[in-house]
Amino acid sequence: MNMMELLCRRENFGGLRASKVKYIVIHYTAGRNDTAENNGRYFARELVGASAHYFVDETAVVRSVPEEYVAYHCGGAVYRHEKCRNGNSIGVELCCRWENGAYSFAPETVAQAQRLVRRLMQNYDIPAERVLRHYDVTGKVCPAPFVGRGQADWERFKGGLTVYNTLEQVPDWARPSIEKLLETGALTGNEDGDLDLSRDLTRTLVVLDRLGILDAKKEEQQWQH
Ligand SMILES: [Zn+2]
Repeated sequence: MNMMELLCRRENFGGLRASKVKYIVIHYTAGRNDTAENNGRYFARELVGASAHYFVDETAVVRSVPEEYVAYHCGGAVYRHEKCRNGNSIGVELCCRWENGAYSFAPETVAQAQRLVRRLMQNYDIPAERVLRHYDVTGKVCPAPFVGRGQADWERFKGGLTVYNTLEQVPDWARPSIEKLLETGALTGNEDGDLDLSRDLTRTLVVLDRLGILDAKKEEQQWQH
């Protein structure tokens, strides 16, 4: 991950956290074809009274506020969420495309944000249910591409956050297929020994198994031995 540090201007963020990080809150910058670096430099320079821990674009991630400090990203006069606040959350801003009067996210920005969020989920032991939109916390239409008509895109984003790292974590509906792939050696873990299987990839592998493709591979291997 191409991570760059651009420390936010000190007045724009709070003190050291008093509570544990329990939530990750997703935002959009509402910038028009902006970059993570532009945002990082803007928040480092200007007095804006707002901040986020991370800015993400197609190629880079900028860390603006250190994770152990409170960023001002989801505070409000009224809340829809009972518990999620600035004090117990990490704020992640996604840079935007602006086309025909509408905001959208580049697929690479979404994929990069998912990688960052998965890493944060692992570090703080946060399940996908505690990854929220700013909208879920205060009702603000943020991130706009993931609210209203973007609901399905939000669900897809969330679907990409669940990762199975061991056979035990793989749900029952997929375990026989994954087991088969491990036996044949077609599937191996990453350098950390984790399976690193997203829910989408797992579903794809199960579909291939239903088509008999994994069995064919297994038989072929048995003939060879
Ligand atoms: Zn927001």
